[in-house]
Amino acid sequence: MIRHAEVVIIGGGVTGASIAFHLAGAGVRDVLLLERNFLASGGTGRSVGIVRQLYPTPEASRMVVRSLAVFRSFRDAVGGESGYVDCGVVIGVSAAMRPKLEETVRLQRALGIRAEVLEPGELVSIERRINPENLGAALYEPESGYGDPTAVTIGYADAARRRGVRIEQGVEVVAIRTASDRVTGVETAAGERIDTPVVVNAAGLWSKAVAELVGVALPIIVGRHPVFVVERDAGFGRPHLVYLDLAGGSYARPETGGLTLTGLLTDDETRHPMEPELLGGDVSLDEATDVLARTSRAIPRLADARYRRGWAGAFDITPDWMPILDESPVRGFWIATGMSGHGFKLSPAVGEMMAALMTGTAPPVNPAPFALGRFSAKGPSGTFVASYLVS
Ligand SMILES: Cc1cc2nc3c(=O)[nH]c(=O)nc-3n(C[C@H](O)[C@H](O)[C@H](O)COP(=O)(O)OP(=O)(O)OC[C@H]3O[C@@H](n4cnc5c(N)ncnc54)[C@H](O)[C@@H]3O)c2cc1C
Repeated sequence: MIRHAEVVIIGGGVTGASIAFHLAGAGVRDVLLLERNFLASGGTGRSVGIVRQLYPTPEASRMVVRSLAVFRSFRDAVGGESGYVDCGVVIGVSAAMRPKLEETVRLQRALGIRAEVLEPGELVSIERRINPENLGAALYEPESGYGDPTAVTIGYADAARRRGVRIEQGVEVVAIRTASDRVTGVETAAGERIDTPVVVNAAGLWSKAVAELVGVALPIIVGRHPVFVVERDAGFGRPHLVYLDLAGGSYARPETGGLTLTGLLTDDETRHPMEPELLGGDVSLDEATDVLARTSRAIPRLADARYRRGWAGAFDITPDWMPILDESPVRGFWIATGMSGHGFKLSPAVGEMMAALMTGTAPPVNPAPFALGRFSAKGPSGTFVASYLVS
């Protein structure tokens, strides 16, 4: 039997689920989301969920502002829980980075984002456990924090179902049918054929392989990103806020149960490109030692924390560390990928943007910086710092 759908979304991570919700909200009927494993089983389920608002362009900043508003009112706006905790985020930079930070913050403020540049010595009034040595300045975002990527995915998926979207798990797309350079359908690993004029590639780490099914080459590399969990000692006191130490190259975000999640902020991912199928989940003691040494320099009270465990995830990284949100040269084949390690915090706005682009309504934010064509010829390139500060 050949089935039919108006839109097939490939991938049930936070991106695909948000797109499904927003498409149905825009009046698109007969949306089918196919997930080869289970919802949030990809990068989403391994995410740390940090939401900071420091971005180098007005468009990316507007996307995160829109997303933050949704996380904070998730129950009313979508349904379910986002797990959002507005504990505040501090971003530490070196003296060399300070001029760029100040320029970026002017941009942030012009968009209404609450953010304050502090002298290193002033940090004591915000979070006395952060080590101010080696910092040239620190940015404080009181409304930023962290959320729960799996809960947000489930929230969007449930709400999408209520709007009539069909979600099928354990269904892998293995072929995409085309005729005269436009999409006509997909085929699944079970041998089923589903006719559709529109396919959305929201396959995250696997999106490059999915795009290759229609002959589209995406400029994405998959880079490994391990996360480590430590248990704070009993004398630590109240949880710390989220600290992103761009100067020292690590981050720390609190978790319930007296735990802290930590990892590198050093552009390490692009030095470890890999095939997503080979990722696995294990981390090594060597990796943990390097990260925990950096975290202990950033928040010295964490030096006494007990190592509990770790896991490996990966980022789908574009040359400028910004997503691709666009239709491909194959008509009807849309791309929402290359989230470059910030796909959780942007997910509400990504769904909104994709639904607008796909239905031909006014996009909420200028989509030009997210166009696939920006990489043609000698496209922009950068490091992960370029996704924080103006260049
Ligand atoms: C360790 C780690 C820490 C992170 N920390 C943060 C953070 O602090 N803040 C932040 O904003 N972001 C963070 N991110 C990034 C963010 O979590 C991701 O960008 C986001 O979750 C990606 O979601 P996605 O839906 O695009 O992709 P995924 O979650 O990877 O979903 C893609 C889905 O597609 C499915 N799929 C693939 N191929 C097929 C196929 N052929 N047929 C059907 N289904 C298919 C996969 O099974 C998968 O479930 C982090 C990521 C990692 C890994």
